[in-house]
Amino acid sequence: MNQQLIDAQGRHFPYLRLSLTDVCNFSCTYCLPDGYQCSSPTPHLTVDEIKNLVTAFAELGTWKIRLTGGEPTVRKDFVEVLDVISSISGIRQIAMTTNGYKLKERIKTWVDHGLTNLNVSVDSLDPRLFHSLTGHNRLPQILEGIDYALTLPLKKIKLNAVLLKNINSHLFEQYTAMLKNKKISMRFIELMQTGDNLEYFNKYHVSSGALKSFLHQNGWTEKLREPGAGPAIEFVHPQYQGSFGIIAPYSKDFCNSCNRLRVSSTGDFHLCLFGEQGFSVRHLLEHKSQKEELKQTLCQILGKKRKQHFLHDGNTGGTPHLASVGG
Ligand code: SAM
Ligand code: SF4
Repeated sequence: MNQQLIDAQGRHFPYLRLSLTDVCNFSCTYCLPDGYQCSSPTPHLTVDEIKNLVTAFAELGTWKIRLTGGEPTVRKDFVEVLDVISSISGIRQIAMTTNGYKLKERIKTWVDHGLTNLNVSVDSLDPRLFHSLTGHNRLPQILEGIDYALTLPLKKIKLNAVLLKNINSHLFEQYTAMLKNKKISMRFIELMQTGDNLEYFNKYHVSSGALKSFLHQNGWTEKLREPGAGPAIEFVHPQYQGSFGIIAPYSKDFCNSCNRLRVSSTGDFHLCLFGEQGFSVRHLLEHKSQKEELKQTLCQILGKKRKQHFLHDGNTGGTPHLASVGG
């Protein structure tokens, strides 16, 4: 049988989240409140290194790639990255997570070059609150970009909002109106503690319990999980085209459905967003002749993946903020 990415718990990993850069042009209060600070001069992976990496993952059974960061679109060669990944045999989905900067101007080109799924972070539908959370007064342009994206042949469009106590954790109604006629999945992510944000976390973390109650009271029902689906819980409503999603990393059994692995923008293989360290595989990305050794190394490292994260104990591993590994 072909080599596959399967860990000691029997979990399969069809999904790779690849960070293209740790640089970001926004300064979200929960992620990079002081904006991007250059922490390491190590250059990000080149397009050729990305090709060798994704080819090896694809041969190990990965079929979905998410491009993330930092802000992946600050890379000038972003379109080249799409071209290269979409030419790799076995890759069926190329998704990206973006803050939506210049989305309207660029999304058509990205779709033309192979992008299939889009996630945009929209922490508030109120322009002033959006500005204060992200440092950018661009909500109207971002929403226009999302409307334009809805006209393009994308498989799925998701919006992400980090759930923040007393900031956006009581404003679900606004999102409901948007989902009436738009085929969008609106996902709320519980704030996660990272190495740098303990004070912020203590002040703003809130569980998704209130959101769940709101959805149940308003006729939304939990959708049955599809086999191989990730840890998000989806809610649907017969009178709405869109859906809600909840990502609750502190919930019981969250890690049981883990189906994703990560590689940082400098070539470190991460088994968990909250693992202690990454394992550098960059030395195996130089030549395509190293592919078999790379595949073997990836499988060996996967053997170390733990059953679950230890966030509940306040153990955030080696992740200072999510822009560093690719959230
Ligand atoms: N810059 C892009 C963006 O914001 O969409 C991609 C990178 S960002 C790190 C990926 C996702 O992680 C975003 O949806 C962001 O809201 C989320 N995120 C960042 N820090 C987080 C935290 N501490 N807890 C939960 N989600 C977080
Ligand atoms: Fe940048 Fe995304 Fe972090 Fe916001 S969440 S600071 S857009 S990397």
